[in-house]
Amino acid sequence: MKIVVLGAGAMGSVFGARLHLGGAEVTLLDVNEAHIAAVRETGLSVALDEGTQVLDIPIMRPEVFVDPSDLILLFTKIFHTDAALQTIRRHLNSTPVLSLQNGIGNVERIARHLPMERILIGMTMTPAEFIAPGKVASYGPATTQFHAADGQHRQLLDDIAAAMRAGGIDAAIDPDIQAAIWEKAAFNCAMNGLCALSNATPGAIGASEAGRTLAFEVADEAVSVARASGVAADPDKVRALMRHAFAQHVFHEASMLQDRKAGRRTEIDALNGAVSETAARLGIATPANNTIARLVRLFEDAKDWMTHHQSKA
Ligand code: NAD
Repeated sequence: MKIVVLGAGAMGSVFGARLHLGGAEVTLLDVNEAHIAAVRETGLSVALDEGTQVLDIPIMRPEVFVDPSDLILLFTKIFHTDAALQTIRRHLNSTPVLSLQNGIGNVERIARHLPMERILIGMTMTPAEFIAPGKVASYGPATTQFHAADGQHRQLLDDIAAAMRAGGIDAAIDPDIQAAIWEKAAFNCAMNGLCALSNATPGAIGASEAGRTLAFEVADEAVSVARASGVAADPDKVRALMRHAFAQHVFHEASMLQDRKAGRRTEIDALNGAVSETAARLGIATPANNTIARLVRLFEDAKDWMTHHQSKA
C-alpha cells in the first residue's frame, strides 16, 4: 500500500515509521526544512517500545510530490490543514484522506477540499514526541480507531487497518467513530486546557480538589454537547481516562502546555473553542469551556501584543 503522510512531525513521523516497518510504501511530506534535511542525511530515528530504529524513508516538501498513492494520512496541526491540503490539491481528485488529528470539526475542514466519500476520520491515543529534527519517540500501548466519514464500510478501511497492524499499530475500524472522537476531545478539553493554564501536569491537577472538580466539569460539558449533537459519547469512559491520567501520567507535560511555554499556537479552537461554538448553536451553556477557550486565546493574543508593544516601550 502506498501511503503519503502529510505533516510528518511527531505523529506523522511515528505513524510513517510504523507503516514503513509493516511493509507499506511510505512517503513523508513536510515543510520543516531542518527535519527534511536530517531525515535525508541520517535517516528517521524513531524510539519505540521495541527499541530505537533508524529508517530510510523518503521525505520531501508537499509541492514537489508527484506519485499517485492509495492514501493520504493527514497529521498537520489542525490550523495547517487547509494550507497543507491546498498544496497537494492535484492529488485530491482521486486519493482518500485519513485524519487522526485531535479535536472537533476535522471532517468539515477536510470536506472543503474533497468529497465526503473519500474522507476517513478517526482518533488515536498514541503519544508522540518530536525530539529534534530527524528524531521522534513514542512509548506505551495505545489504540487507534477510524471509519469512513460517511459511515459506509469499504475495503480500503480493512486495507489500512491491516497496514497499521503489520507495523504494530493497534488499529480498529470503529462504526461509532464520532463517539470515540468526542470522548477524546472531552478528555483533551479538560486535561490540555487546565494543564496549559495552570502550568501543571495531570498529577498536580488530580491532587487538587479544585483542579479535579473543574476538569470533570469541563469534560462533562463537552460530553453533554456531544450527546445533544446526536453523538453517544460516554461520560464514564471520559472520567475513566481522566482518572487514569491523574494517576499514571503524573508528570506528563500536555502538548498544549508545551505549546504555550514555547509561544506556539495551540489547537484550542478545535477543542474548548469548538465545544463552546457547538453549544452556542444548540443553546446549551458551557461556562467552563467558554472560559478556558478565552483564557488560552488571551495567552496567545497577549503574547503577540506584548511582543509588538515591548519593542516600542
Ligand atoms: P507536530 O507539530 O509535531 O507536527 C505537525 C507537522 O506538520 C510539523 O512537522 C509541521 O512542519 C507540518 N506542517 C505544517 N504545515 C504543513 C504544510 N502546509 N504541509 C505539510 N506539513 C506541514 O504536531 P503533532 O504533535 O504531530 O500533532 C499532529 C496532530 O496529531 C495534531 O492534530 C495533534 O493534536 C494530533 N495528536 C498529537 C498527539 C501527540 O502525542 N503528539 C497525539 C494524538 C493526536
